[in-house]
Amino acid sequence: MEKIAFLGLGNMGGPMAANLVKAGFTVTAFDPAEPALQQARQNGCETVASAHDAVGGADAVISMLPSGAIVKELYLGARGILQALDTDTLVIDCSTIAASDARQLIAAAGERGIRAIDAPVSGGTAAAAGASLSFMCGGEAPAVEAARPVLAAMGANIFHAGPAGCGQVAKICNNMLLAIHMIGTAEALQLGVDNGLDPGVLSDIMKASSGDNWSLDKYNPYPGVMEGVPASRDYSGGFSVALMLKDLGLAMDTAAGSATSTPLGALAKNLYQLHGGDEVNRRLDFSSIQNLFRRPAGD
Ligand code: NAD
Repeated sequence: MEKIAFLGLGNMGGPMAANLVKAGFTVTAFDPAEPALQQARQNGCETVASAHDAVGGADAVISMLPSGAIVKELYLGARGILQALDTDTLVIDCSTIAASDARQLIAAAGERGIRAIDAPVSGGTAAAAGASLSFMCGGEAPAVEAARPVLAAMGANIFHAGPAGCGQVAKICNNMLLAIHMIGTAEALQLGVDNGLDPGVLSDIMKASSGDNWSLDKYNPYPGVMEGVPASRDYSGGFSVALMLKDLGLAMDTAAGSATSTPLGALAKNLYQLHGGDEVNRRLDFSSIQNLFRRPAGD
């Protein structure tokens, strides 16, 4: 596997494509946004004027796109690229989309004899830049194995979650739990601060106690407690409230489809909706949910 077509060169796709070039792959890239193409050229990708131009002769096609509607239009629409792919091309969709959309794409590819997998990622933009993403793959084992050397150039962990769509299910289960423990952590820290505790001291106590969790340990939402996290730079960078709301929406749709009770996930989505009702907040890192609990100064 040598020639990769990369579609979608945004905050995640741009650095992922750059890491493929660094690992020695030949990358032909397309994005409708000219600044993204310029950056890709600087990173050593060949850029082209359309998705169709990118996929000709590619061993694998990787897509990293904002939504299921865009993924389906790109592959399955009236001018969809699936029709243009050779049958030995491997399709790897890394976008976060509904599991049902992923299954539809993989089934349509299968009908044409093309192998396809869903491979959404965890890790965010820093992990995309540092080639340390976690990939959660759904699809048939041989297709996942064929994708492994390509994914290894962009990530540190590659999981085969199960059949088609299971990568997407794993991703939204993880992010629903992340939202829940982030909100719980913010709530507990605020209760302590409002009752006279220093948030750093309380964090140290809980990290060594049964309240320990990833949000507290690696991504503390209270400003000033931890260096290098969004809470200590006015919640800039990181994983936006808007993206968390997208993932919680996918989680709730999936839960509705399987009649699964997810009361804490639903509450987490409601709280993020309340917080993200403000356009400024939507662009902040998701740990800014702390501000929902903080009292205005002087109160
Ligand atoms: P982004 O908006 O920065 O990038 C998306 C890119 O896709 C844009 O450059 C856009 O121009 C391009 N695009 C749109 N339509 C296209 C088409 N038809 N063909 C080719 N390119 C097209 O988004 P992002 O932050 O890079 O996220 C991409 C995906 O990764 C999303 O599904 C997101 O949910 C997921 N994700 C993001 C993060 C994160 O921290 N940003 C973390 C994990 C997963």
